[in-house]
This record gives sequence, C-alpha cells and structure tokens, in this order.
Amino acid sequence: MPYDLGRTCSVCGALIGDNNPDGIGGECRYAYYGARKVVHNKDKERAYKYYGTKARVFMPVFIEQHKDVKFRSEFKKSFYPSVVKQWEEKGYLSNKQLEICLGWLGYKIDYDTHEKLEEAVYEKQKKILKEWKPNAEEYEHITKLAGTFRKEFRKNHS
Ligand SMILES: [Zn+2]
Repeated sequence: MPYDLGRTCSVCGALIGDNNPDGIGGECRYAYYGARKVVHNKDKERAYKYYGTKARVFMPVFIEQHKDVKFRSEFKKSFYPSVVKQWEEKGYLSNKQLEICLGWLGYKIDYDTHEKLEEAVYEKQKKILKEWKPNAEEYEHITKLAGTFRKEFRKNHS
C-alpha cells in the first residue's frame, strides 16, 4: 500500500505519504516554515535570541576592526568605546546602534567577508528555528497561519 490513509497534511488536510517526516505536505512546507518563524518570534525572549544573532556575529568583527583606529570625529571618539562597553557588559544593542556599527564596518570589510558573515547569521537563525519545539497551542497557531500564507501565495500567483 503506497499511502497510509490515516496521514494528512497538518496545514491543508491533503493525504501525505508514509515517508513524510513531519506531517507537512511538500506544497505546504514553504508556508509552514514562514509561519514557524512568525510564531517563534512572537515571544519576546525568543525574538531577542533570534534577531540578536546579527549583532553576535558582526560585533566581534566590528570591535576587532576598529580597536586600533584613531578616530578624528568627536562622535566616533565617544561612540566606539561606549558601544563596545555596552555590548561587552549587556550583550545588547539598539537597532540604531547596530546600524551605525554595520555602517562603519562596511568600509572595513570586503564584499565576500560581508557575505560570509550574513551567511553565518542565516545559519544560526535557521538552527534556532530548527531546534525549537512548539507546544500544542503554538503548533496549531503555526498550521493555521501557514494555511493563510498558502492562500495568499496562491492568490498572488494565479
Ligand atoms: Zn498541505
């Protein structure tokens, strides 16, 4: 028997094969992963961990690249030590602070290095989502949201 008739996709209810690993049909998988990300990041602490990966990847490089620089502008002279101190003590930066650091770093690293760092951020975020085990309520939320995403996707592509 090719199909276990008891198994259906958690998002759309279509029959899925015996070998399906997670109860999500192939056509719904893209929407499912999008919804997982949204529901994961509805929780403030989890969102902090998820989006904080960018600063955790880029800040050590930013600090290293600027540690011996003799800044001329007053702003840079005070910004650099204060942002380094805040990062080292609290492990936290505002979006605005991070944006400034990334702007400076843009002049220090080449395109390939930048791409590698972005890839590292992406891999870390992917890992966080992969390791996350939603509870029953969250899982229901994810599958409902994925259903909505799928409908929207179809509407925009038909
Ligand atoms: Zn489905």
